[in-house]
Amino acid sequence: MKSFFILTDLEGPAGVDSFKQTRPGDGAPERIEAAKKLLAREVNACIEGIRSVYADAVIDVWDGHGPGGLNAADVIGGRYLRENQPYKQLEGYDALLFVGQHAMAGTIDAPLNHTYSSRAIAYYRLNGVFIGEFGARALIAGLQGVPTVFLAGDDKAALEALMFVPEIETAVVKRGKGIEAAEHLSGEEACRVVREGAARAVRRMGDIAPFTRFAAPFVLEIGYLAPQTNGKQGEGIEWLNDRTVRITRDEIRELPF
Ligand SMILES: [Zn+2]
Repeated sequence: MKSFFILTDLEGPAGVDSFKQTRPGDGAPERIEAAKKLLAREVNACIEGIRSVYADAVIDVWDGHGPGGLNAADVIGGRYLRENQPYKQLEGYDALLFVGQHAMAGTIDAPLNHTYSSRAIAYYRLNGVFIGEFGARALIAGLQGVPTVFLAGDDKAALEALMFVPEIETAVVKRGKGIEAAEHLSGEEACRVVREGAARAVRRMGDIAPFTRFAAPFVLEIGYLAPQTNGKQGEGIEWLNDRTVRITRDEIRELPF
């Protein structure tokens, strides 16, 4: 039996282009609840796409949005996961898929672009290469032997995915026009491209190699937006200045990915 892991985020679905829809601190709880529904319908479309090829697949769905981006009851046909970082233990899965993904911090006209923290982080560079959440997690999966076969999100997130995994299948549900601006597909259209893209992806997954482009030692440079007065110290941690730290690790899962 095939098994799939869907990694979700709240910034990427059609209809979402404001931080008020994703950050609880911005004070619009009803807009966040509405955005969660937009993500859920694309997650469900992804599940339908997978099941159109592998009807009895095991499908796990991880809610990867920090403050929560999905309600368990809204996920249909997959198992909802929330706790910890289960993408760090992907042994046994056949493929990883992303739904609702945004581009890395600093990407031109990419809606809600950020790298882990939209408030704190200016950029991540791994072994000299700018990288975002997609590349980091595709690498974690790849080093466990699991290919990343699909991404649904805005056009810039899709281009970023293609940069790291050229064979990946993508579904573009909105076109970015600024950090809080996009032209969106209708909900129905978005679900259609996600469903069809996910089906194509799992049909082709044998042709998509696990992403293993980086090898140990892993040197992660993190650029912060503001000076860090209480930055972490320790082995393999070197502060280049008060906004820039370099972390060196042999195990990829020990990096803040
Ligand atoms: Zn994110």
